Amino acid sequence: MANITFIGLGNMGGPMALNLLKAGHTVTVFDLSEDAMKTLEEAGAKTAPNIHDAAKGAECLITMLPAGEHVEAVYLGDDGLLNSLPSSTLVIDSSTIAPETARVVAERAVKQDIAFLDAPVSGGVGGAKAGTLTFICGGEEAAFERAKPILQDMGKNIFHAGPHGAGQVAKLCNNMLLAILMNGTCEALALGAKNGLDPAVLSEIMRQSSGGNWALNVYNPWPGVMEGVPASNDYQGGFLVDLMNKDLGLAFDNAVKNKAPIPMGSLARNLYALHGQQGNGRLDFSSIQRFYRGE
Ligand code: NAD
Repeated sequence: MANITFIGLGNMGGPMALNLLKAGHTVTVFDLSEDAMKTLEEAGAKTAPNIHDAAKGAECLITMLPAGEHVEAVYLGDDGLLNSLPSSTLVIDSSTIAPETARVVAERAVKQDIAFLDAPVSGGVGGAKAGTLTFICGGEEAAFERAKPILQDMGKNIFHAGPHGAGQVAKLCNNMLLAILMNGTCEALALGAKNGLDPAVLSEIMRQSSGGNWALNVYNPWPGVMEGVPASNDYQGGFLVDLMNKDLGLAFDNAVKNKAPIPMGSLARNLYALHGQQGNGRLDFSSIQRFYRGE
């Protein structure tokens, strides 16, 4: 069991840190939100008044922050953690950020002889709570092997995508595909419904046919077709449209930098941007079904 410091206890980080406690690790936490820290403290975590105190004595430090600027603030700059961490620390950033930002932080860590992994996750809040997340890691093999037993206490599938930044590249490719397949699924269901088909029957036909996909299997976007998914709960919970827009922005920026054509990803990005602008940012991303239903 390890001494682990966890920074960023939001929708994802909170339950991830809880799973580390459940696995028997000694966990010290820090978040800007007192409430978030209190929940963890009640579950047995130690709390600290700032990132530097939180990091003292950590064998492994994990961050789960909203975006690149937060990751830069915590690690870089005069007051950043990379100025003070000992070289024995294993640092894992699980936030979803641009690959370039992950590489800048990694480069700085390597200069200090600190092992760093970008390790964004897939699986959402449900996966974070259940400890079944997929971790998609970028970094050196040795760091990956050190991190694996810890990540296994929070996740089920642990992948090594390649060098620093590769985890973030794989994550943005996956989420761009997710946005595209969700739009395609919603469009097909709406067309069938316009023709008088029962969306539940059509879903099952496509699921068992060549159109079968993740949304039809476990995340049906049509209200009432599947129990326990956001679509059957007024699109509450799940993966927010705002977060999907953030991830599609990362994919778009990356495609521009790499001169990669992403016509489908760009269309999905614009559809989600419109959907978010129309006041749906805090709904689950499967709520794009409403757009195709003309609601
Ligand atoms: P969140 O907004 O719920 O939580 C972020 C937490 O970070 C907050 O509690 C905030 O107070 C804290 N924070 C911000 N700046 C800080 C700082 N300087 N020091 C300490 N704490 C700080 O976000 P989330 O939903 O937990 O997502 C975290 C990351 O995981 C994001 O990059 C997101 O894209 C990614 N992600 C989210 C999901 C999801 O379904 N929510 C799924 C996969 C990946």
